[in-house]
Formats: sequence, structure tokens, C-alpha cells
Amino acid sequence: MLGWKLSTQGVHSTVADELERMRALVAQAIAEARRDDTAHNGLKLSEVHLVLYGDQDEAEARRLFEQASRGTGAEGARLVIERAGSRYICWNCCGLRFESNDGLCPNCGEVAMRVPDEIAFALRRAVSG
Ligand SMILES: [Zn+2]
Repeated sequence: MLGWKLSTQGVHSTVADELERMRALVAQAIAEARRDDTAHNGLKLSEVHLVLYGDQDEAEARRLFEQASRGTGAEGARLVIERAGSRYICWNCCGLRFESNDGLCPNCGEVAMRVPDEIAFALRRAVSG
């Protein structure tokens, strides 16, 4: 585990980049909750569900969320984290994208290419109230 982290450190994005992405995600969560709930002004989110890809650190994601949500409608929301495998894309069959832990294409069975972790987390859903 430590060896993996060291060997891939150079290709990882910076913390500042990740914070920017988390800010975008928080904005997206608020926008989605607002769309589902037009009755409230000054909407507060109670829950935000995130998907975390690959080996992303959960504690780090929570820290980023706390920072990014400060002063927004998502501040204080409960963060629910789901884990997903790494994302892969298979160039052998039809460019199929899939999530997996072993990287074997479910369509043709070839070893697929791992998609770089340019986006380490994604919004699953936001709950207001
Ligand atoms: Zn394939």
C-alpha cells in the first residue's frame, strides 16, 4: 500500500485542485436539492451522498467537504460515502467504461486501461431538509 502511494504520488492532483472539485460538487448538490424542492428558500442540505473511486482516502474527502461546504447550504450536512472500484475503459471492444477492482472488461474479458483519477469523487445524491 505504501509502495503504491509513493510510486503514484507524482501523478496525483494537488490538494488545491481537489478542493476546487469538491466546491463544484457542493454547488452541484445544492443545485440538485433546490431543483427537487422549490418550496424552500435558503435551502439547507441534511445529507450529501458521495461516491469515492479507487483508493481515495475517505478522511481526506470528509475534510475537503467540510472546507468546501463552509458558508453554503451544505454546511453541517451528513456526508455519506460509498466506495466504488477504480474506473476502467476498454479499448479492445467498444470503449466501454466500467467500475471494477480487477480491470477485466465485463464485455470482452480483456484487461482494460485504468482511467486516471482526475475526478476522485462524484455526487450520488443530495437530501434537503
Ligand atoms: Zn472490452
